[in-house]
Amino acid sequence: MIERTPEQIVKVVRRAGIVGAGGGGFPTYVKLQAEVEMIIANGSECEPLLASDRTMMVTNAGQLVAGVQLAMQATGAKQGVIGIKEHYHDAVAALNKVLPEDGSIKLHLLENYYPAGDEFLLVYEVTGKVIPEGGIPLHVGVVVNNVITLMQVAEAVSGKPVIERTITLAGEFKEPKVVTVPVGTTYAELINIAGGLKDPEAVLIDGGPMMGQIVDDLNAGVAKTTSGLLAFPKDHFVVRMASKPLPQMVKQSKSACCQCFRCSDLCPRNLIGHELFPHRTMRTIDYNQADPTKHITSAYLCSQCGVCELIACDFMMLSPRKIFAAYRQELMKKGVKNPHNRKVSEVNSQFENRKVSIPTVMKKIDIAKYDVKLNYVGRQEVKKVRIPLRRHAGAPALPSVALWQQVRMCDLIAQSPQDKLGTCYHASIGGKVTEISEDYIEIQG
Ligand code: SF4
Ligand code: SF4
Repeated sequence: MIERTPEQIVKVVRRAGIVGAGGGGFPTYVKLQAEVEMIIANGSECEPLLASDRTMMVTNAGQLVAGVQLAMQATGAKQGVIGIKEHYHDAVAALNKVLPEDGSIKLHLLENYYPAGDEFLLVYEVTGKVIPEGGIPLHVGVVVNNVITLMQVAEAVSGKPVIERTITLAGEFKEPKVVTVPVGTTYAELINIAGGLKDPEAVLIDGGPMMGQIVDDLNAGVAKTTSGLLAFPKDHFVVRMASKPLPQMVKQSKSACCQCFRCSDLCPRNLIGHELFPHRTMRTIDYNQADPTKHITSAYLCSQCGVCELIACDFMMLSPRKIFAAYRQELMKKGVKNPHNRKVSEVNSQFENRKVSIPTVMKKIDIAKYDVKLNYVGRQEVKKVRIPLRRHAGAPALPSVALWQQVRMCDLIAQSPQDKLGTCYHASIGGKVTEISEDYIEIQG
């Protein structure tokens, strides 16, 4: 292991354009500037059907350990922990072979439940500490990074920026698989890589079935944060829920929400002691009851995990999650800050009993038939990419190349302003820049 200063590590991580690969897209160099006691590598991959993190832990275990060590060097952490599902036997075996003998990095085996990868839950499982409401892992002395992010940190130190992404292709594809593709590979091309669609009218979802987003443009490219592409029939429960418009949901909740509390009973953030009661928020909007300030601003405490919507309220098909997302956006627009910052003194005594197992999730949302063993086919080359410039946390990246310019793989092509939170992008294939917009740069090889 080569020793580097924290400043050197932060600099290469920033230059490599690394953002949280788990979905949040938060720039990693910012996290690595903190001083903490522990680095947790999040390998829990809690969304059903996804197998990208697991695949990479099997094939690149050494690189993950190197990434954790670099993150520990950057932050001064004395302990590294890799949180991984207990039943990922292949990944656990691969990691056990490469863990350092001094015990500085160890595995923490997790049960197979949803959302084990929510960093608030993961930190609680590993350390027994609860991150305060509205807080971040740093408040309890921890930095959490996705396992692929940490592998990218190790690659960055060897000079490779983020130019590819390992993605699970599952659902209604003829040849479901796990594949590594250049960042910006179009969804249309991914359908080809998966042998086409079994159901030509299938709807695509970028991400997992619980938190993913419907893909509305097949010519758009996958982001650094894309962990999976799922295809479901257009009348599938997951698609119907994801495509229901918010006004319809609000209208429906007025007549359909029976205040059964199930959404609050199963809400993972409520279970770790945060003051988040989705049923009360539903009551607030439906009947103008409860305390609007309190129950609407609690939108800031919601992780958008979807348990309330797809598991708790599957019978009424209401979505406290969507309502929280809309409120949060509105509150932020109005400049209302999160007033919730209570330190949690007690975790709900039912925390263990109310964990929703992944087999239950799959049964509830009717995806068990898509849970098949997926082969990893390695890196696939493509002739065209559309590299998205906004799918990370912070300011959009601004193009630094010109139309028709020839670029080589790994060349810097866009960057967020240096004084703002953001990241940079590199050419994921060599070729000519054929289109530039505010949202993406297209390169044809
Ligand atoms: S689970 Fe559904 S019906 Fe029950 S309180 Fe929550 S939103 Fe209302
Ligand atoms: S999406 Fe629903 S269950 Fe998940 S944290 Fe938010 S309110 Fe709780």
